[in-house]
Amino acid sequence: LVVLENVNKHFGDLHVLRDINLTVNSGEVVVVIGPSGSGKSTLCRTINRLETIDSGEIRLDDQPLPAEGRALARLRSDVGMVFQSFNLFAHKTVLQNVTLGPMKVLRKPRGEAEAHAMELLDRVRIGNQAQKYPAQLSGGQQQRVAIARALAMSPKVILFDEPTSALDPEMVQEVLDVMTDLAKDGMTMVVVTHEMGFARRAANRVVFMADGEIVEENTPDEFFTNPRSERAQDFLSKIL
Ligand code: ATP
Ligand code: MG
Repeated sequence: LVVLENVNKHFGDLHVLRDINLTVNSGEVVVVIGPSGSGKSTLCRTINRLETIDSGEIRLDDQPLPAEGRALARLRSDVGMVFQSFNLFAHKTVLQNVTLGPMKVLRKPRGEAEAHAMELLDRVRIGNQAQKYPAQLSGGQQQRVAIARALAMSPKVILFDEPTSALDPEMVQEVLDVMTDLAKDGMTMVVVTHEMGFARRAANRVVFMADGEIVEENTPDEFFTNPRSERAQDFLSKIL
């Protein structure tokens, strides 16, 4: 579904992505882990073209990523993104946050957008909060709204960039539970996270990045019990 081939990217002198080769198949959950600054967020951002790449190719459904215009807007609806910082619209209700994209970008009529939004809010277990504003919700609830908002565009894949890192500890699990449900339902997901329990339970594959490279790629079982590279061993010894 998503294929990266020999992708390279620099920020000035910094070679932030080095010959990245990665395939994400339909229905797969790929967890990306690695030290701070290793390029995980940049990798996610290249997949929906929030960042351009210097060389290599990224394809979605066998098509190269479009550079601009309507095709780019369509790409952004095909590739959902959930950030650490929720990024909800503060002056819009929960329901409006979820219906905005479908109405504006997908040109769905309001009634249909709202009905779908309510289904999704129920799915992330927050249907009873639809008329509230983001500031009236807990962090965990806001992040579940952000997930519903991503789902509302019927994306082919959702990228999660440390979705629980900004949350108080007691709210982490409710978000991970929703993500685990999505994974079980067959959603294709790329998840940058330090939640190793989630990685073990939900991931089909773990990708370990360091210094802009994919150093290791394996099943969670293999990766956690038997990391091959020294850098992965070192990283795991610090976080487990
Ligand atoms: P973290 O775990 O801290 O989120 P990360 O693995 O997501 O780290 P990135 O955010 O992808 O890492 O950043 C990789 C490197 O690129 C870092 O050294 C960062 O400082 C640098 N970088 C990221 N974005 C930019 C930018 N827009 N301009 C210049 N340098 C950048
Ligand atoms: Mg990051």
